[in-house]
Amino acid sequence: MTQNSTPTFRRILLKLSGEALMGNADYGISADVVERLAAEIKELIDAGVEVALVVGGGNIFRGVGLAGRGMDRVTGDQMGMLATVINALGLQDAIEHAGMTARVMSAVRINQVCEDYIRRRAIRHLEKGRVVIFAAGTGNPFFTTDSAASLRAIEINADLMLKATKVDGIYTADPKRDASAKRYSHLSYDEVIDQRLAVMDTTAIVLCRDNGMPLRVFDINRTGDLKRIVFGEDNVGTLVDNNLTRDKA
Ligand code: UDP
Repeated sequence: MTQNSTPTFRRILLKLSGEALMGNADYGISADVVERLAAEIKELIDAGVEVALVVGGGNIFRGVGLAGRGMDRVTGDQMGMLATVINALGLQDAIEHAGMTARVMSAVRINQVCEDYIRRRAIRHLEKGRVVIFAAGTGNPFFTTDSAASLRAIEINADLMLKATKVDGIYTADPKRDASAKRYSHLSYDEVIDQRLAVMDTTAIVLCRDNGMPLRVFDINRTGDLKRIVFGEDNVGTLVDNNLTRDKA
C-alpha cells in the first residue's frame, strides 16, 4: 500500500519507551530527541489525527532494578511510575513549544503537576486536538508501560497502537547480532507470544489480542516513518493483528 493524502488512522496511541527519549546519552532526556518527536507529532496533529502517548520511564528508573538488590518491589515500581511522570512533563513541554496543546494525565494522583487520568476527559482532549500523554503506567506495580499502552489504546478506542523501538520492526532474530535476521511484515498476536518474540510483555500483547487492537512496531529513529504509517504505508515496521489472510514476509 502506498501513502495516502489523508490519514488512514484517525486516532492513534504511540508508546514511547523512556529509552527512546535518551538519544545517545545513557540517562535522562535529550532535548534534541524530544524536539524531533514533537515535530513528527505536529505533522499528525496538523493533519487532524488525534494523538495519545504513553511514555515509559526506563531512562530514569525501573522497579525491577533495585528490587534485585533487595528493595521492596512495590516501592521500586512506584518510583518507576513517577519516573514516567517526569518524562511525560518533558514531552508535554516540548510538544507545547512546537505549537500544540498537550495534557499529561496520570494514573496515580499527583494533580498539582498534571491531571488525573479520567477516560472521558482524555477523549474530550483528543477530540479538541490536544495531545494526551498518559503517565504513571497503569497506576499499579508489577505492570509495565507497554501494558498501560495497550490498556489506554483500548480504552480510548484508538484505531492503531504504535510501539516505537530502536529496530524497524520484529525480526526472526536480533538483527544487530545476526546478519541473516529477517523482518516480519505481519504477525498474529499468538505468533508473537508462541515464538517469544521480545516485542512487548505478554500481558500487553494479550490485551491487544483479546480486544482486537492492531499494533505496529517501528523504528522511532527513522524520521518520517511515524507519518508514513499513519498515512497508510504498509511496508514500515511490523504489523501485529489477527488478520491471518494477509501475506507474510
Ligand atoms: N511501572 C509500574 N506499573 C505500570 C507501569 C510502569 O510499576 O503500570 C514501573 C515499573 O517499575 C517499570 C517502570 O515503571 O519498570 C518504568 O516503566 P517501563 O519499564 O515500562 O518503561 P520503558 O521500558 O517503557 O521505558
